Amino acid sequence: MLWKGWVSRNTWFRKMNSSTPEREPDTMRLGDGYYGWLPRSLHGQLILFTTLSLVVAVLGFGGYTASKQSQMADDSMTAQMAALAKNLADVSANYIVTEDLSAIEDVVTPIASFQNILSILVVDANGNPLSEMLNQEGVINPHYGGERIKLPADAKPFIQNKDGLFFGWNLHLAPHAAAEAWQPVTAGNLLGWVRITYSLDSVHEIIRQIWKDAMLFSGLAIGAALTLLVIMLKTPMQALRSATRFAENLDENLGKHMPVSSATVETKALGSALNSVSTRLQSQEKLLQENAGVTRLILDNVIDGIVTIDKFGMIQSFNQSASTMFGYAANEVIGRNIKMLMTETYFDAFDTYLEHYRAKGTAEIIRSGNEMEGLCKDGSTFPAELAVSHSARLGKPLLIGVVRDITERRRVDKLKSEFVSTVSHELRTPLTSISGALGLVTGGALGEIPGQAKQLLDIAYKNSLRLAHLIDDLLDMDKLIAGKASFDLQAQALMPLLEHTLEAIRAYGDRYQVRFALLERADDAQVRVDGGRLQQAFGNLLSNAAKYSPQGGQVAVAVRQSNGKVRVEVIDHGPGIPDEFRERIFQKFTQADSSDTRSKGGTGLGLAISKEIIEHMDGRLGFDSEEGQGACFYFELPVCAVD
Ligand code: ADP
Repeated sequence: MLWKGWVSRNTWFRKMNSSTPEREPDTMRLGDGYYGWLPRSLHGQLILFTTLSLVVAVLGFGGYTASKQSQMADDSMTAQMAALAKNLADVSANYIVTEDLSAIEDVVTPIASFQNILSILVVDANGNPLSEMLNQEGVINPHYGGERIKLPADAKPFIQNKDGLFFGWNLHLAPHAAAEAWQPVTAGNLLGWVRITYSLDSVHEIIRQIWKDAMLFSGLAIGAALTLLVIMLKTPMQALRSATRFAENLDENLGKHMPVSSATVETKALGSALNSVSTRLQSQEKLLQENAGVTRLILDNVIDGIVTIDKFGMIQSFNQSASTMFGYAANEVIGRNIKMLMTETYFDAFDTYLEHYRAKGTAEIIRSGNEMEGLCKDGSTFPAELAVSHSARLGKPLLIGVVRDITERRRVDKLKSEFVSTVSHELRTPLTSISGALGLVTGGALGEIPGQAKQLLDIAYKNSLRLAHLIDDLLDMDKLIAGKASFDLQAQALMPLLEHTLEAIRAYGDRYQVRFALLERADDAQVRVDGGRLQQAFGNLLSNAAKYSPQGGQVAVAVRQSNGKVRVEVIDHGPGIPDEFRERIFQKFTQADSSDTRSKGGTGLGLAISKEIIEHMDGRLGFDSEEGQGACFYFELPVCAVD
């Protein structure tokens, strides 16, 4: 408590008088005045505690001893005086009877000269003085003409007048305090009294002497104890101070070893512990530096731009690739809002995203595939793909954005689709004539064809149709993406369109031994669509469902209308959509299992085309599926009033 109070007073003092910046609470340094006081204050306290305890011990001991000694001295003097009085009474009894006053004086005079005796009085039975001798500093003088004194009622010896003598404790006794020893003189009856008055000065002297000795002893003991304490504390204190200095400057002392003091087991243990901390910290720091170096190297060499921002969108870090991509040096963007790196189109979406992040504390993870437009320092823009994850640094939330420049990918995509489109156009005309010719031949327009030749021609005809289908799909996709496909939007009833498609696809279902069942209908549903295109998309969902259904299975169709929308579901009991394929399913030329191309005859374009078609008609195409549990592909369209 005392120590805490001391430190806090010093802390307060420093705060009041110092202009140095505030340090973290509880941090004290040896050199800055707080801790520097430790040895001095500790010495101060030790002196105080030692002195106090020794003074208490000496007072207690001195008081007790003085009390005992003076009691003993007093007791022995009392006993001595009582014995003297008794002797005197015995000796003087005859002389009192004979009233031989000079004989009494002869007896009393030598006794009166005894040490400590102040006076001796002999009286008769009525209290009339017979003889009185005064000892005045060694000179014995008789005192005549004393008055009659009042005698005690009982003829018993006693001691009186010891008031003023406080055994032991009182250092300021009244000087010359005296006591009286009374002794009756008897010979059958009371003859008189002997009273010896004696000084208590010698008892006082004993008490004074004891106190003097006690004080001297306590002074010596305090001095010796302090010297011993200082000697004993000096070495561990020094060891503590150097250990503290070592710990304070641990940054510079990392890896170094301080000399371990063996003054006490504790200082030795402290020194060894600090040395091992220093070694461990050094190796950990080395490891951290190495890791940081490797991380920095990775970050700077990764092809993607990596930008971290806080929850307010302020840029915290900017790697080398991001610098190259956006044309800014890291120090030009750090601390500024990330909006400087995107075109205005994305501001609202970004603000909403951050608001959500701040409110919920968790960021919606954006995986790759999210495309945006990056804004460079020179004002130019580039297409970018963005992935965002969130983490925390020093307890503060952090969003990590990975930006990929997809200019090249877009260019290659464009080249690819231009190439596909050109090739498709070039192939279509000759292919049409080839399949037309093969159709005529296999149809028997040119007469009977021998068995084996017919077989080959049939295969060639089927494959030419497949090829024509692929090319149609490709051209279709091409047109849809380029926005060149024409849509003749008409408000019309939905159910007839769906029923026609179901009717038309029945034969296709038979091929896979799959039945189509229209389980729920919405006869009132009116939609504004291009009938042919809608049937194309719906037909594609149905054909997929049939292709992937088990033999003898059923594909259910359910149509429901609610909240201004109509939803058409195509449900099968096939293998479902594998998790890893879900993100790519609507991309062109993608198939969960590439062997499907051969086994099921698909192109990987059907869903991409269907999605484009439905979205062109303000609808939405999606699916629900659990792997192994079948799939439910659906599209939703806004319902409309009849024209
Ligand atoms: P394809 O012409 O190959 O059918 P799609 O674009 O229509 O091309 O389909 C792409 C891929 O999606 C298919 O190859 C298949 O892997 C998967 N798929 C589509 N529909 C279903 C379904 N009903 N059940 C399981 N997988 C399906």
